[in-house]
Amino acid sequence: MKLHQQRTCIGCRTSTDRNELIRWVLIDNAPPRAVLLDVRASASGRGAWTHENEKCVRQAVQRKAFARAFKAQVDDASVLEQFTAREDRPGASRPSGSHDESGSEI
Ligand SMILES: [Zn+2]
Repeated sequence: MKLHQQRTCIGCRTSTDRNELIRWVLIDNAPPRAVLLDVRASASGRGAWTHENEKCVRQAVQRKAFARAFKAQVDDASVLEQFTAREDRPGASRPSGSHDESGSEI
């Protein structure tokens, strides 16, 4: 898929390539429905998009942009938390054991 679709960041309202944005989805089980970070941007259902920076995420929460985007009452209390937790993790490269420390056997 090489379609470059434009999406609007609900934080700063800038329209940009979706590859530069992160996706949020609404969990549709129990109200108030939680907003969840859709890491792979592949979950089905309605999505909302923000830039991958805290300012935009924070702005989206402050403006209640998630509720507006999903046209529903949402629990966005953990949104910033999720975003921060995401940053804490190195993401791509997972430190899998001490690989090069055990290579000094004679
Ligand atoms: Zn933004």
